[in-house]
Amino acid sequence: MIREAAVSGRDPRHCLFVSDVHLDAVAGAAEHQFLQFLRTEAMQADALYILGDLFETWVGDDAPEQQAVLDALTALSTSGVACFALHGNRDFLLGEAFSQRTGCRLLPDPVVAHFGGERVLLTHGDALCTDDHAYQELRTLVRNAHWQRRFLSLPLATRQQLADEARAGSRAHTARTQPRIMDVNASAVEAAFHSTRVRRIIHGHTHRPAVHDGLIEGTPAQRIVLGAWYEQGSCLSYRDGRYELRALPR
Ligand code: MN
Repeated sequence: MIREAAVSGRDPRHCLFVSDVHLDAVAGAAEHQFLQFLRTEAMQADALYILGDLFETWVGDDAPEQQAVLDALTALSTSGVACFALHGNRDFLLGEAFSQRTGCRLLPDPVVAHFGGERVLLTHGDALCTDDHAYQELRTLVRNAHWQRRFLSLPLATRQQLADEARAGSRAHTARTQPRIMDVNASAVEAAFHSTRVRRIIHGHTHRPAVHDGLIEGTPAQRIVLGAWYEQGSCLSYRDGRYELRALPR
């Protein structure tokens, strides 16, 4: 069952999409660039969609980090830009307090939104990487509501320590797993197009920014992949029916 999201009550003309900013506790070039992006380009848009992994880790809304980014998001939504966020595989614990604090509405993943009258599927993208069986097992575990309640009931320091261990484990997994295994699975992509009846999917996660044009059941279909913000920024803009994927050099 795919949920559909209304966007601020009207069809937006100018939307921006980002994903995988991967902000961590150490303020660096990515944070500086992203803050600038929120304060300038994003202010001109009708809506901003953050498609997951805005933060490198998120151990609960009570953690004290990232105040500058939270402030900038609050300023953006307060100025009238509709802000939406999906959970990524790193910040899947973003919760209601984050949403209240920033004005960013948390959307389910996947979700269908409407742009220019077209239904478009938005997803972080990790669920499409079905060849990575070890990761999918982990995903099932940590997306379980009972597991999340138990984790969030632990002291903050314990959660931070567990998150550090999980990051180290994730790095080791990435280092020993073939890149092809960590990309999207073609059948999973086809199934997503088919089951949602969309002809455009926008996602991140794989850090392989590209626009893939193809055919699904004989009709043109497009999969737009957002890039990560490690070396430079990456942003998709939608304006009056046209999509443009751009690298944002530093
Ligand atoms: Mn990800």
